Amino acid sequence: MELNIKQIIEKKANKQELSKQEIDFAVMGYTNGSIPDYQMSALVMAIYINSMTEQETFYLTESMLNSGETLDLKKLGTTVDKHSTGGVSDTTTIALAPICACLGVKMLKLSGRGLGHTGGTIDKLEAFDGYKADISIEKAINLVQQNGASMITSTLSLAPADKKIYALRDTTATVDSLPLIASSVMSKKLASGADIIVLDVKYGDGAFMKTKSDAEKLGSLMKKIGEYFGKKVAIVLGDMSQPLGYNIGPKLEAYEAVEVLKGKQSNLYFECVHLASLCLSLSEDISYETAKQKVIDCIKSGKPLEKLKTMITAQGGSLDLFNGLDIKPTMQAKSNKYGTLTKVHTKRLGELVGLMGAVRQTVSDKIDYNVGVITHHKLGDKINKDDVLFDIFAKNKADAETFMPLLKECYVIE
Ligand code: URA
Ligand code: CA
Repeated sequence: MELNIKQIIEKKANKQELSKQEIDFAVMGYTNGSIPDYQMSALVMAIYINSMTEQETFYLTESMLNSGETLDLKKLGTTVDKHSTGGVSDTTTIALAPICACLGVKMLKLSGRGLGHTGGTIDKLEAFDGYKADISIEKAINLVQQNGASMITSTLSLAPADKKIYALRDTTATVDSLPLIASSVMSKKLASGADIIVLDVKYGDGAFMKTKSDAEKLGSLMKKIGEYFGKKVAIVLGDMSQPLGYNIGPKLEAYEAVEVLKGKQSNLYFECVHLASLCLSLSEDISYETAKQKVIDCIKSGKPLEKLKTMITAQGGSLDLFNGLDIKPTMQAKSNKYGTLTKVHTKRLGELVGLMGAVRQTVSDKIDYNVGVITHHKLGDKINKDDVLFDIFAKNKADAETFMPLLKECYVIE
């Protein structure tokens, strides 16, 4: 029988399970333009309301995965990919890639630029003056063969169906659906070709998932999708009730990643150790504890620090940041209260740093790599009156004065 989009919408609206053929028909038709926005939005809304079975979710992922180019990394041996659903002060990738490379786990990382309240890995890498992220895939694969890792922006058209459907969901209030989010993320990850996928699912203030239990559900579904396609998948649940590291802003975060590789212990350091341990244990089939010891010893050896230098140099970046931070705060924000830090408005903090100039507000904007804040406290810390809460790195004094009270409002001190 000939497939018909109206009947497919009807079927999903009546809570019936769609077949692989029906899902392929809808996804391919929408991607090539033969199915219009209004019919696809009706189908997506029916999915949003009635959800999908695991099998339907696997089929949807497969359709979107097969809608564009896919990367074949077989000649690199075992490769790992890491994905975060978007955090604030989350600079793990820049430290993780060289650690993995030193331990024989290769990584070709395709990353994006900052968006909304989250900074992008590529923006942080470009804070190493001169870093070229837009090199060809062939060149990047050669660099991975030489150095064990390379971090680039993707010029490939990975999962174009997802791109189109995601844009539609964004305007029809249908983003927030487990099968739709899981298939969207996984279609792109599977298209980038790694054997091992580590997914950092954020929850809390500013994350897609508001609670840890929702993040767990999303993580578990994405793991099932990955395993269905023969990948090894590890899930990390990332708490966004506060920024992961201390620094927010491209150059400040790049600097914090360098500090991790210099062995400076912090939440960010422990997160990087955790992620690297998962990558290594999956890649070598060894226990997490054994992997973790290897990771810690590896960082102590100083090799990942040298490796990052090699990787940055190979893509034209300056090594100045390895000698220390070359920018000074415009102003310091001090506490006018005594108490305990009980809550951080993480998303707002990320947004403010974005508005200071660290994140593009439109695609064509130029960002200022040097703006941002260094925070000094974590939840539960005691704060005295006049303690420095933020070192503010603004474009100028007037900006720093404008943003100071807004930044302070991101902290609840009781
Ligand atoms: N990120 C994605 O890539 N897709 C979603 O659906 C949600 C977040
Ligand atoms: Ca710079």
